[in-house]
Amino acid sequence: MNRRSGNMFKRIRKGNCMEKLIILGTGNANVTRCFNTCFAIQAREDEYFLVDTGGGNGILAQLEKADIPLTQIHEIFLSHEHTDHLLGLIWLIRMIAAKMKQDQYQGDLNIYCHANLKQTILTIAKLTVQDKFFALIGKRIFIHTVADGETRRILDYDVHFFDIRSTKAEQYGFDLTLQNGRRFVFVGDEPYRAHEYELARGADWFLHEAFCLYSQADVFKPYEKHHTTVKEACETAQMLGAKNLILYHTEDRNIQNRKALYSKEGGAYYSGNLFVPDDLDVIAL
Ligand SMILES: [Zn+2]
Repeated sequence: MNRRSGNMFKRIRKGNCMEKLIILGTGNANVTRCFNTCFAIQAREDEYFLVDTGGGNGILAQLEKADIPLTQIHEIFLSHEHTDHLLGLIWLIRMIAAKMKQDQYQGDLNIYCHANLKQTILTIAKLTVQDKFFALIGKRIFIHTVADGETRRILDYDVHFFDIRSTKAEQYGFDLTLQNGRRFVFVGDEPYRAHEYELARGADWFLHEAFCLYSQADVFKPYEKHHTTVKEACETAQMLGAKNLILYHTEDRNIQNRKALYSKEGGAYYSGNLFVPDDLDVIAL
């Protein structure tokens, strides 16, 4: 048994068996060989906290493949306005509203985002979703705005939101303490910034983008897009003392060998557990 599976085994035995991270997509905005980066935290046997929604209707396929019914999604966080994160939400609103109308969905749908994102969601939904479904917004579909530093109770978690201070589009990340006591930190789809130090230091789970390999930076040009590489993400996680690092939001030209290539490059800079998931991988938290 290698070191990683040994740790996972311990995690599963010690923690809440139900607490899992389900990776729905791992790609950046332009990918065609995997889905855009989004994931769900399975908090209980039958409830999920969905984080970002990918770039469209493909979210429905990913949820189906991951065996996550729409009826078990009541909490969604949207990090920022970019197409690869937001447009799937319009589909979820449409599909869940239809289920509400047909009495096939219990309870309300809660969407969390920063204040400036609310109007964007409302505008796109208003223009593209049928009136009878749009009318449920404010009645059973609620868009909750969160401020920098605000904490909200979502499922079994106190979710603390923070502004990642993007220079491209206003974006929020979050951190939370899992039921097993471990700290989970999501800094969105841009590189870690120094103001996040206190939140991310010593994280048990640190989720960070890696646009491509450092050795292929000249091909993919991550820096012009305000992204970073496997090497830098790993150096950051090492500096922070993060115990587990999950890399996502990558290019997809290396998709067949991505796990091996990224793990090899990253292992030279990071001594914790490095995860380079494929779409639909499930990680015991
Ligand atoms: Zn993105």
